[in-house]
Amino acid sequence: MSALPDARRLLDEAAAAMGNAHAPYSSFRVGAALLTETGAIFRGANVENASYGLTLCAERAAVAGAVAAGHRRFRALAVVAGSPHRASPCGACRQVLAEFCDGGFPVHIASASALDAFDTRTLDELLPHRFSLPTTRSRRSHDETHQDLCSRHQRPPA
Ligand SMILES: [Zn+2]
Repeated sequence: MSALPDARRLLDEAAAAMGNAHAPYSSFRVGAALLTETGAIFRGANVENASYGLTLCAERAAVAGAVAAGHRRFRALAVVAGSPHRASPCGACRQVLAEFCDGGFPVHIASASALDAFDTRTLDELLPHRFSLPTTRSRRSHDETHQDLCSRHQRPPA
C-alpha cells in the first residue's frame, strides 16, 4: 500500500475530529488524527478555554489520548484546520511529538476545504535541533557502564 491513501485516510479522520473542536472564542477549529504503530487511530480536537492560555491543541489531545490508551509508537499524524490555509503544528505540539517520534515522522497538514492539497513535513523539518533528555533507561545503562568502569579501576592488580 502506498503512503498516499494512508495519508488521505488519516486526513479524513482529522477532518471528522475537527467537527468536535471546542472553539467558541476563536472559531479556529482544528482536528488531528494520530496513527499508531499497530494501526489504531486516535483523534484529537482543539479545546479552547475562557482563560485562553489553557487551550489545548488538537495534536496534543490526540497524543495524550493515544498515550493514555497505552500507545507509545506512532507512524504518522494528520492535522486539518477549518481555515482556508493549512495550519502547521505549533511549537509546543512539535516538541510533544518529539517525545515519541523520530525525525522522519511524517505530519500531513491540510485545510478542511482542500484535503487533497495536503502538505507533508517530517518532524526534522518542523523541529530541527529539538530539546531532548536521556530517558531513565538510557541514563541507567550509562550509570551501569560508569559503575562497571569504576569497579574495574578499583580492582587490585592481578
Ligand atoms: Zn499546538
